[in-house]
Amino acid sequence: IENVSKVYKSAGKELTVLNAINFSVTAGSTLAITGPSGSGKTTLLGLCAGLDRSSSGIVRLNGVQLDGLSEDERAAVRNKYVGFIFQNFQLMPTLTALENVMVPMELRGLKNIRAHALDLLDKVGLAERSHHYPVQLSGGEQQRVSLARAFSNKPALLFADEPTGNLDAETSEKVEKLMFELNRDAGTTLVIVTHDLDLAMRTSRIIKIKGGQLISDESN
Ligand code: ATP
Repeated sequence: IENVSKVYKSAGKELTVLNAINFSVTAGSTLAITGPSGSGKTTLLGLCAGLDRSSSGIVRLNGVQLDGLSEDERAAVRNKYVGFIFQNFQLMPTLTALENVMVPMELRGLKNIRAHALDLLDKVGLAERSHHYPVQLSGGEQQRVSLARAFSNKPALLFADEPTGNLDAETSEKVEKLMFELNRDAGTTLVIVTHDLDLAMRTSRIIKIKGGQLISDESN
């Protein structure tokens, strides 16, 4: 991303949340984004993943420039390259855990998706919950469904917003293991927003954001 800024407008007021941010992430590498609450991390992740538009600057995802694309065109780029783990899960409430995990694979026209989705749910320890709806699952269980969904099409890039924020130590370890395995085995680039310093230290690089500015960029 080059010189990227984001200004939110609400109730006639403007709030500059990101101010002229520059960085690039090497394909296949792992990066953590840290910083205080409200510093703009989720906003930055959303811009990088093409979920939202910047106010100015250039965002390129896997070589595709996202600025100027329509919402549908951005969605097509996301479906092709991106897995996203949201802070608040964003599972589809009318679909079961299994069906939620199958959605990205359906969008990509993959085969044998039911068996693959069940395997992924098993990996995150939720095989027995596959037919439950999100409302019937605990927060940590919903988070694990969202992880299985993000992994399901072996994305080129995985963006994760506090992926272990709602999990106990044992489940966090499982989830982290899965993310780093995906990086190692499928070459998926990991970009992880986290307050968890142990998780950040497992990545190869940490960027710190404060007050909408990039204040440090260090290799681990
Ligand atoms: P946390 O660690 O608490 O999740 P964060 O660093 O991820 O915080 P963001 O969620 O990016 O921070 O929010 C940055 C700032 O932008 C906050 O002050 C927030 O209130 C504001 N903000 C976020 N989304 C919007 C929006 N849609 N409209 C207006 N302001 C917003």
